[in-house]
This record gives sequence, C-alpha cells and structure tokens, in this order.
Amino acid sequence: MAKKEITTKGIVIREVMMGEADKLLTVLTPELGKITVRCRGVRTLKSHRFAAAQLYIYSDMILSEKDGLYSLSEAEPIESFFDIRLRLEAIACCEYFADLVNTVTVEGEGDAEIMRLFLNSLYALAYRRELSVRLVKAVFEARLSVLLGFMPDLTACASCQKEEAAFVDVAGGEVLCRDCALSSSGSFDGRERLLLPVNGAVVSLFSYVATCEAKRIFAFSAEDDSLEMFYRLTERYLLYYIDKKPDTLTFLLSVL
Ligand SMILES: [Zn+2]
Repeated sequence: MAKKEITTKGIVIREVMMGEADKLLTVLTPELGKITVRCRGVRTLKSHRFAAAQLYIYSDMILSEKDGLYSLSEAEPIESFFDIRLRLEAIACCEYFADLVNTVTVEGEGDAEIMRLFLNSLYALAYRRELSVRLVKAVFEARLSVLLGFMPDLTACASCQKEEAAFVDVAGGEVLCRDCALSSSGSFDGRERLLLPVNGAVVSLFSYVATCEAKRIFAFSAEDDSLEMFYRLTERYLLYYIDKKPDTLTFLLSVL
C-alpha cells in the first residue's frame, strides 16, 4: 500500500529508544487516539524533528502511515510546558498523569476529552503556580474517573435519600449519610463498603469537576479542610476503579 501523509496535533506520553538514533513514541492525538510513532534519526543534532519528538511536548505533526504503522516526518512544537521541568513534584505529577493516560487508553482508540484533561492539567502544572500540585492531581483523578464512566451518584444518601452526604462509598459509587453509614454492617449487596468521609463542599466540588467545561476545571475555590478530604477521596476512588497502583504514583507521593 502507498504511504499516506497525515497531519495531526499530538503529545508524546511515552518514549522508548530504539538502537542508536531512533525512538518509538507513544503519542496521544485527538483524531487517531493513542498511536505508536517511529521517529528516525532523532538523536542526530541536525534533526529538525528533535525538538518536538520529546516527552510532554504538544506539537503539530506530519506523520506518514503505511500498513497501519506511523512514522514522524515533521514536527513543530506548539507548547513545551517548559516550567514543569523546573519543579520535581510537577515532573513527578506529569509522569503519573501520562502513566494513567497510557493505562486507561487503548492503541488506536482515544478519547479527545482525556487528551484535553491531560493538556489542561499539564498547563496548570507548568504555569498556574497558585494551584498546588496536590490540587491539580486530585482534580485530574476526579475528572478521569468520570471520563472513564465511574461518576459516583452524589445526589443523596443511597440508603435513605437524605441530602446530607457524610461518606462516599467508593465501591458502590454512591454517598451515605452519617446515620446510614453507622448503621450499615460494613457490607452491602454482598460486597464490602469502602467509606471515605466527605462533606457537602466536597460533594459540590466533585460534582463541579465532573461536569464543568474542560477549560473551567480549575476555576473553583474551597476551604482547606474540604480540599484535604477531596485529595484523600480522588486517589482512592480512581485507583479502586482502574485496579492498579502505578509506580509513578509511589514516586510522586514520595516528593509531594
Ligand atoms: Zn441515609
């Protein structure tokens, strides 16, 4: 089959060296989803592809495709998120996000919303210093859970319908009021409950992050004690559903 030329935007989320001068890149694109792209001669200094063919750089790319295999012909950086590289905790968080995105997406399939979340979160890590890395991490985890289809039902206590959430039952994807949580025997419908404390503000915050416009995802404010509960909730919640603790998270937690 003849070679086909494809123009796309893309961000490199993983790279593996191949031999002396080539790289295999895992690239997230809006239309093609997650793809593997071979990049030849990337280590030679005169390579014009060098600057854009690196991790966590968002670029305009021209790919050539033959028999379902992609190789990089041209790349021009749009955004390098340079400032992420100035802080260890921001780099560690970025690696954790990339690891998660790589885990939850399938080659040849993609989700433009997940890509947008990734880009918006990298932007926040790089340029929104007023947002703590912990906060960016928690928002990313909450939104990713929802994009993967694991939105908890936050409307009212799942048992008595009172609108006073005191716990999220992670395993059930629902909330319970204090009375119902205390009177429950620890299991429900034959499964263990996994209860994490919340308050009304955390429930509102989770709902906001779940449903707001992608570009407004960090446009909220909350009290410190609610944020603390939110941080504890989002990581447990997401990891419960993807059923994996990435190594990059262990490293991130050691530097946060
Ligand atoms: Zn209740």
